[in-house]
Formats: sequence, C-alpha cells, structure tokens
Amino acid sequence: MSDCHGCPAATMTMPPPGGLSGARRQIVAIVGPPNSGKSTMFNRLTGLRQKVANFPGVTVEHRMGRVKLEDDREVFVVDLPGVYSLNPRTEDERVTHDVLTGRMKDLPKPDAVLLILDSTNLGRHLVLAAPVLSLGLPTLVILNMADDLGRGGGKIDSAELAMQLGAPVALVSAAKGEGVDKVFQFLAGTTHSAAPQQKPLMELPVIQDIPKCRAWAANAGSKAKYHAPAPPLWTRRLDSIFLNKIFGPLVFLLVVVGVFETIFAGAKPIQDLIDHAIDYSGLWIQHLLPDNAFRSLLINGVWKGVGSVVQFLPQILFLFLFIGILEDSGYLARAALIADRTMARIGLQGKSFIPLLSAYACAVPAIMATRTIENKRDRIATILIAPFMTCSARLPVYTLIIAAFIAPHFQVLALLGLYLAGFLAAITTAKLLKSTVLKSTRSSFMLEMPPYRWPTVRSLSLRLLDRSKVFLQRAGTVILAVAVVIWVLGNVPLSHGKPPSLDHSFEAGIGHAVEPAIRPLGFNWKIGIGLISSLAAREVIVGTLGTIYGMEGSDLEHSKDLQQALRKDLSPGGAAALLVFFAFAMQCMSTIAVVRRETGGWKWPAAQFAYMTLFAYAFAFIANRLVTALA
Ligand code: GDP
Repeated sequence: MSDCHGCPAATMTMPPPGGLSGARRQIVAIVGPPNSGKSTMFNRLTGLRQKVANFPGVTVEHRMGRVKLEDDREVFVVDLPGVYSLNPRTEDERVTHDVLTGRMKDLPKPDAVLLILDSTNLGRHLVLAAPVLSLGLPTLVILNMADDLGRGGGKIDSAELAMQLGAPVALVSAAKGEGVDKVFQFLAGTTHSAAPQQKPLMELPVIQDIPKCRAWAANAGSKAKYHAPAPPLWTRRLDSIFLNKIFGPLVFLLVVVGVFETIFAGAKPIQDLIDHAIDYSGLWIQHLLPDNAFRSLLINGVWKGVGSVVQFLPQILFLFLFIGILEDSGYLARAALIADRTMARIGLQGKSFIPLLSAYACAVPAIMATRTIENKRDRIATILIAPFMTCSARLPVYTLIIAAFIAPHFQVLALLGLYLAGFLAAITTAKLLKSTVLKSTRSSFMLEMPPYRWPTVRSLSLRLLDRSKVFLQRAGTVILAVAVVIWVLGNVPLSHGKPPSLDHSFEAGIGHAVEPAIRPLGFNWKIGIGLISSLAAREVIVGTLGTIYGMEGSDLEHSKDLQQALRKDLSPGGAAALLVFFAFAMQCMSTIAVVRRETGGWKWPAAQFAYMTLFAYAFAFIANRLVTALA
C-alpha cells in the first residue's frame, strides 16, 4: 500500500521565481471533490500552522498553511473548495480555476498541485483529473481512503494509473496517516521511484468537455484495473434504518431534538459561568481604577463588549461539535435528504434545515453553519432568513413586555404567537427571495451519500478551534467597535469629566431625534433609546430601560417595578408594536458582523438590515393600530 508511483524528482525543486521580491516559498494547491479528504490531508500536513482567509471579493474561504519539510524548508499549502470540475459554473469552481491558472488576485500561481481523490469512488472522482492535469502543473494524484478501499475488497494498480495519467500516483490514508510520507516526499521533491512520466499514455481531453472527461476517466480506471469496493456492510445496514420511510424521519427528529437540547441546555451553564466571570472580573478591575470616564469606557464599553462576544462561544462550540459529528459521520447527508422535500416547499434545500434550526438558539452560529450548503444562492437565502427565527436573546424582552401587558392566561399563547410570527416571516421571505433575486434551478438532488465513518477527535477539535478563532477575530473586532460607539453615545458629552445624566447624553439626543419616526408605533423617546441600545444585542434593551427608569439588578425582566413603569409609559398598542418589532427587526450587531463575514461584503447585511427593519416597522405599525382600535 501507499506506493508513490512515478513521483518525479524535480517536482518541487524548481528554482523559486526571482524578481524584485527575491526568493519566495513555493505554493502547493490542494484540489479535489468535496469529501475526498482535502481538509484531513491539509490538517495532517500543516497541523496548527494554518489560518483561514477569504478570497478577495467572494464568499469562498480558503485555508493557508505551512508545511515543514525535513531540511527545515517550508512550503505553503492552500486548501481550495471542493469541486467536481473546473468549469466556472459555481463560485467554488471559478475560485479553484482562477487559483490554478494564476488569475486570483493576491495569490501567486501555485507551483504544484495535490489532487485528492476518494479511491473508493474513483468512477466519479477521476473525472476531475483530466482538467487538473491538463493545466500542466506538477501534480501528485493522491488516491485517499486507501484503508476503506482495501477493506471493501477494492483494487487499483497505481503504477499503471501513473503511466496512464502521466503523473505520480500515491495511495494514501489521510485519516490514518498511512502513505502521507509520500506526500511529504513529493513536496520536498526527493522521491526517486519510477522514472518521471513526461507524457501521459492517454491523451487528455479538452477540459470543458465533461462527457469526454468522463469517458477518459472510465478508460483510465479500467486500464488501471480499478475495482470499486463494495459499500461497507455497516453503511448498508444503517441506511436501511436511517433512510427508512418510517424510522428515518423518527431518527431525524431525535437528532433534531438532540441538537436543540445541546445548544440550549448544554451551553447554558457554561454561558452563565462566563457571564459571572465577566461581571466579577469587571468589578475587580473597577476597584483597581479611579472613578472616571476612562474606567467606565473600559468596563461598560470594552469589557462588556468583549463579554457579549465571548458569551456566544459555548453555543457556537456546541453547535459546531454537533454539526462536525453529523457531517464527519456521514449522517448529515442523510438528514439533508430527509429534510429536502419539506424544505423544497419554501424553495430551499435539505441542507438549510439544521442551520435554520440552530437559529432558534442564536443566529450567529446558524449563519456560520450555512457553510455546508454548496449552492451559493440557497446559502445566501438561508443566511438572510435565519435572524427571523426566534433566538434566545429575544426571550428576556418578550418576558418583560408580556408580563407587563398580557393577562397570565394568555401569556404562553402570546409567546407561541411570536415564535410563529418569526417562522412565518422567514418562510415568506424565503419564498420571495427564491422566486426573485435568488432564483436557482433546483438541480436534481446531487448529494453524495458518503459511507458512515467514525468522526476523529483530531478533525473535530481542529474544526472547533478554527471556528472559534474565526468568530472571535472577525466578529469580535466589529462587535467591540460597536460596543465602544454605543458607550460613547450614552456617555458623551462629558460634564466635569463625568458621564452626563441620561437626559443630556448624545443617546438621549438621538432618542429625541428619532421620536417622530417611532411615534406612529406608539413609542416615546425612552423606548427609542432602548431600541438604539438594543442594536448591540436585543436583550440589552432590558438593562437600558432599567437604567432609564432608575432600576438596577440582574433579574430585570422579572422586575415588577419595571413592568409597572413600562405600563405608565407605553400603551397596549405600543407594547404590541414593541413585541412585533423585536420579532422581526435585525437588532444584533454580532449577526450583522457575521453576515458581512460570511457573504464577503456589506451588500447582503445592509440589504438584510434594511429589509428586516422595514418589515418590523410596517408590522409594528399595524399591530399598534389594531390593538389600539380593539382596546
Ligand atoms: P474534504 O471535504 O475534502 O475536505 O474532506 P474531509 O477532509 O472533511 O474528509 C471527509 C470525511 O472523510 C471525514 O469524515 C474524514 O474523517 C474522512 N476521511 C478523510 N480521509 C480519510 C481516509 O483516509 N480514510 C477514511 N476511512 N476516512 C477518511
């Protein structure tokens, strides 16, 4: 096993391109279909020496990492999105194509390619070899999952395949680490096995011609005496349950409840712990510093801002742990298949289901979880509707207003109504988007059913590390900036070096300034301030209203005094409008920051913010009128 046939000695020892910048490290691109094991190989090669970046101007992300070779040299590897061809139809294909042909801005043309194919599925995967090899870059064809190939009784003559393709071929198991030394040798350019092939025995077809590529791949496979392994017995057995008409949906339901429970209940204690830790450490720092505006900025702006970001981490980690297990084990593909018919009714696909479900906990991890959706338009549509789902940050607001204004018998009904309202807004918006700007032809369900596998701790932990890094770095900076701005608005202009009383802050000025716009909803300037502060995060409005009405404490949403104060200042119509406004408006800078990050620009988050605000305004207006008329 794990032979490297025909690995040419000269592959990676090309002189580095000179020029003004002098010698540079060589760049090797990892290319392959989805699920062929690219990330596993990338992680094997780079370990923790990696970072995530977005390609300029697109939503597609890539990872760059350094590989240390034996003689202390280093090469860069870049993990490209999974593709089946290089025809620039989808964004992923275009990005991969552009990188390989040296057209990607900020990334020099790679010096070599690692083409990773799933050896248990070469019938489909070998097709990609034709367009990749015809680019003429030094390429190592890696037949991955060699362990599964052997176990299932599959076979391939990799020496013969190397001759046919005119490129070295290595049989490897990235997950087990078997044969990975051959990849290192290729990167070092030190393999001296079979004589390097210059010309493939088989003429390469024109790259864009998919039928020709397929025929070419079938031919190459049969010349190399390829036998696909039998699908593993376990996979067949499990599928007879998981895809069964009756048991399938039942198992699916169990998984859904499990995900829900985990991100809600499992993360809660840790979140509370972090919350306390932030509060206490804040108090501790407070005692160390003199009482001035700087201290307030540090504690109430920066520290609380950081806290509001870190708060999300447990949910994000739990969710990604879950999704990682589902994806790596192979179940996610089955779940998507089961949810597909239902999701098709709103124009989306099965893969949107889990992200949307997680949005009930928090839209931030939900939006990050849309990555499993390959179709870009479906992914954007899912991102755009996710914040309509009733996230846990809305609950304190709902609790306060409902307790203050709705008779006990109807409180649960009101809460359910708000959940339903968010859900209906989401599906109407999805339908609207998918029949207009984000229309896409529904491709016949092109989902591969990978065999079931045990997820590895290594792959799961790297994924979690990666997601938390991305979240803390990218979202964190934006959130921190906004938290500081909101603090400044509430505490400036300073009078005698101290923050002003609320009436005289910039925030109050803004509250008064927006009052004419929100009066039709039944809100006064105080609610206006609450709305503005809730841009930081929805639940912040509770604390702000507390401050406005001169109340302190940690359990404000249950405070009878605050309820009393609100009843004086807000009509029943206004209360209904406030609930409806919170159900629909996108008041959450973390979500905005994450949407910007995931869509690669301000276009979508801006449109989404405008749409949701208008939507919220219109329905809050109607709610105010309706309730006022009825009351
Ligand atoms: P990517 O989509 O190409 O990045 O694929 P991943 O690296 O995420 O791998 C897809 C799945 O295949 C994961 O569950 C991996 O753990 C698994 N996998 C990767 N390499 C191997 C291998 O050599 N043998 C086996 N049995 N599983 C593997």
